[in-house]
Amino acid sequence: MPDIFEYAPAPESRGIVDIKPSYGLFIGGDFVEGHGTSFKTVNPATEEVLAEVAEADAADVDAAVAAARAAYDSVWSRMPGRERAKYLFRIARILQERGRELAVLESIDNGKPIKESRDVDVPTAAAHFFYYAGWADKLEHAGLGRRQDGSVPRPLGVAGQVIPWNFPLLMLAWKIAPALACGNTVVLKPAETTPLTALLFAEICQQADLPPGVVNIVTGAGATGQALVAHPDVDKVAFTGSTEVGKAIARAVAGTSKKVTLELGGKAANIVFDDAPIDQAVEGVVNGIFFNQGHVCCAGSRLLVQESVAEEFLARLKRRMGTLRVGDPLDKNTDIGAINSAEQLAKIRELSAIGEAEGAGRWSPACDLPATGYWFPPTIFTGVSQAHRIAREEIFGPVLSVLTFRTPAEAVEKANNTPFGLSAGVWTEKGSRILFMADRLRAGVVWANTFNKFDPASPFGGYQESGYGREGGRHGLEGYLR
Ligand code: NDP
Repeated sequence: MPDIFEYAPAPESRGIVDIKPSYGLFIGGDFVEGHGTSFKTVNPATEEVLAEVAEADAADVDAAVAAARAAYDSVWSRMPGRERAKYLFRIARILQERGRELAVLESIDNGKPIKESRDVDVPTAAAHFFYYAGWADKLEHAGLGRRQDGSVPRPLGVAGQVIPWNFPLLMLAWKIAPALACGNTVVLKPAETTPLTALLFAEICQQADLPPGVVNIVTGAGATGQALVAHPDVDKVAFTGSTEVGKAIARAVAGTSKKVTLELGGKAANIVFDDAPIDQAVEGVVNGIFFNQGHVCCAGSRLLVQESVAEEFLARLKRRMGTLRVGDPLDKNTDIGAINSAEQLAKIRELSAIGEAEGAGRWSPACDLPATGYWFPPTIFTGVSQAHRIAREEIFGPVLSVLTFRTPAEAVEKANNTPFGLSAGVWTEKGSRILFMADRLRAGVVWANTFNKFDPASPFGGYQESGYGREGGRHGLEGYLR
């Protein structure tokens, strides 16, 4: 008898999703053919082509913005908040009802494990619609003040929203729910590698009888996003993605009246003190960097561990990493799925090779990676110095850089030694130390004895090169109101 039990495969059926051979653009409440060419979206776990998707050109973006403007002027901005709320509640309920379908589709198109799309992405997306539905008729109580004539805050108009591939449906919810609650209409561009759940969401808008043009989805690559954010009739730009593209967008809209929120990259420190409950901290570090294959802007990609416990901590971390299961995203036992694209895999490989060349020690547990698809094993680098590129640049993969510190002041210095400032984690038994650290860490979110926890009522956003503006919570309304 073997001394460890093997997991039997527990695959989720993909029969629940109906992927069409090709998709058009969702403009004015209907699916229409684009004027541009099309592109393929693939399953990153198998490299199988899933569908042909229309690539919106400037004329298509123009049509989508015109549809959003017409819906804004004629219906949505005039509708009382309590009526808008009914649509948001309806969408939230349909997201729940079709949750399994959305989760399977997300895992197929993105590569993330089904247990994550099923238990995190889809429920949190629905929760965002429920949460903002509750605000739609209470905007005057959001603490954002009244205009001089005594009227309540007004919507901005048409929002152009561009989202990345790491949480396709969840980022869509973060963008669309507050925009609609505040009375704006939207044109959203999903990422090129993960358009399918946004297109299913378009069907959900139809199912919810959302007035045509309130939500428009234009698929495409960077050029489509560029045309959208630069469109003269867009009043608000909301972007989540890389710092580089965020900077380009900030330049493109400078000097216009467009309101902008940018959620960009991060290089978060997960800081473990010697008094932390060690196994709990190991779990938190694993969740911080290996959740969603490390494709997380707020990932805890730098472990700062107090020198006195570093050896023991690393031994336990390695043991835990040895139990992570990498493989089929649709298997309910899988912890780490596929890397989203060949390009992203190349980037992770390149930065990991640079880490080795700079002298850091590389370690991964033994694990068999599937022969096709894009895969990278969970990896840690020890002996990392602050000057190393793997300690400074966002790798956006399952790669952890380990540094040590001796005093709380040194931990603060090292944690803040980054151009980013999105999130941080603190592991300690002492409440006073948590407050000491939270006061000094330059990060939009500081988690204490937990990591990567998201709630629609809690604002999220960054400092410095991690962007500006907040999404989520009452603060998330601010970006969509005048
Ligand atoms: P991008 O910032 O390029 O992509 C984000 C979104 O912006 C996508 O929808 C993209 O379209 C679109 N886009 C690209 N160029 C422009 C432009 N000039 N104007 C308007 N929209 C544009 O991220 P990538 O997907 O290329 O990933 C690159 C790196 O960015 C990753 O390795 C990772 O380090 C980081 N990243 C960070 C994220 C975060 O949440 N902080 C999220 C995603 C990536 P398209 O998909 O077609 O490129």
